Amino acid sequence: MSLMNTEAVAVATAQLVQRGMRVFNAALFAPTEREHVAVLLALADLPEGGMVIDAGCGVGEMALHMRNDRPDLDILLVNMSAEQLAQCPEGFHRLQADFDHMGAVPDGAADAIIFSYAICHSPDWPTTLREARRVLKDGGVLLINDLARLGGDNAEFEQLLGARAHEPEWVEEWAARAGFRLDFAAAPAVHEHRLREVLVADGAGAGLLDDLVPTVWRFVAAPPEEARWIRHRGRIGFQFSGGRDSTAALYLLRDRWVEMTIYHLDTGDQFPETREVVRRVRADLEAAGGRFEVIETDVQARRNDVGYPFDVVPVDNTTVGRLVSGDPIRITSRYECCAGALMKPLHARMAADGITLLVRGQRDDEYAAPPLRSGDVADGFEVFYPVQDWTAEQVMAFLQENGLPVAPFYAAGVRRAPECMGCTAWWDEGRAAYLKAHHPREHKVLIQRLNDIRAAVDKQMSWLTHEMEA
Ligand code: SF4
Repeated sequence: MSLMNTEAVAVATAQLVQRGMRVFNAALFAPTEREHVAVLLALADLPEGGMVIDAGCGVGEMALHMRNDRPDLDILLVNMSAEQLAQCPEGFHRLQADFDHMGAVPDGAADAIIFSYAICHSPDWPTTLREARRVLKDGGVLLINDLARLGGDNAEFEQLLGARAHEPEWVEEWAARAGFRLDFAAAPAVHEHRLREVLVADGAGAGLLDDLVPTVWRFVAAPPEEARWIRHRGRIGFQFSGGRDSTAALYLLRDRWVEMTIYHLDTGDQFPETREVVRRVRADLEAAGGRFEVIETDVQARRNDVGYPFDVVPVDNTTVGRLVSGDPIRITSRYECCAGALMKPLHARMAADGITLLVRGQRDDEYAAPPLRSGDVADGFEVFYPVQDWTAEQVMAFLQENGLPVAPFYAAGVRRAPECMGCTAWWDEGRAAYLKAHHPREHKVLIQRLNDIRAAVDKQMSWLTHEMEA
């Protein structure tokens, strides 16, 4: 897409060429167009023999000067205007296309892409920058030579020139979200304010350029792993449970601790063993300058309200079922209990904090079919699971090799980090045996609760037996 239609481009081209201008830039950083292009080439620092896209190439004059200085470069001229392309010098590859949709250019084909007073005509810079990232190799160069807006708005600028200029912060943010790392932004000394002179000569008033500064940005296309951190910079949250997978994932990202906020949810019913792991990890993290946030919920209040969690839920004991059955025992599904007491409060807090990348120590082999994998997006969060391909054995080996804290219940055969001591669900965790051996008082209470709940389940099951034997 362009803010200028091809007819307007043709008219503007003829006028500029008539004025003796062939490099269509608002400002020159040197006395001649050739020297100006040499300045841009030096700033771009293009790789030897690289494939370079000149996006919105005008009449190809910049490419011509580039080729004179750097004959090693393989330059592709991209332009949506057939008329401008027809005026380009011979000997270049050409593509008539909108630079938001350079479909003929394969993914990762280019070593560099240059927008020299071209991206200003895009109505949608984020889309243009995503397409630029698509066609670039990892490590490829994005050079933007354009005007940066330091104040005012684009209304008159767009009406007169079919262009928009944006605040440097937005240019850099959009580029980051597209997967680019900023190398530098510079405002080189201007030798000729070409656009200002044209506007004055045309009586259009040069005042609309007062808040605009000729600026050159050099970005580097980050590889996917790095791009994730750039894209979500300042909005990255790690969910730390105190379990072994969570600890392994967190220490695997130790170099990134200051880039994340670590969130830990305490239901008020944690194992003391988990609390000790959390205490040690928190101390480590804060000593390294990391940010640790604790979210507190009250799982006991929830159990009193909607019922104890169970792995089998008799209909007569659900909130709605009890209205009909009058059964005094409240039972809820373990998934609903965990969602209400753990996941929802955690996600609500992270969303309120503006988190967009959610990092967790989740492993694929804990699921028959993993609901999400790294890179997926759900509920407004992109997820990243650094140990998703690991086994439990690999996690334990990593913790041991690095001398990291791990709760003793794993060595006793517990399969997953038990979140709540008084949980009456998650029978497949192997938690009861550990409780019996190490927390006998809590175990006794648990068995009593399980007996009560089981009686309710048995009552419901007796109806099933009755029905089947009828
Ligand atoms: S671990 Fe058990 S008690 Fe704790 S939130 Fe999950 S289901 Fe509820």
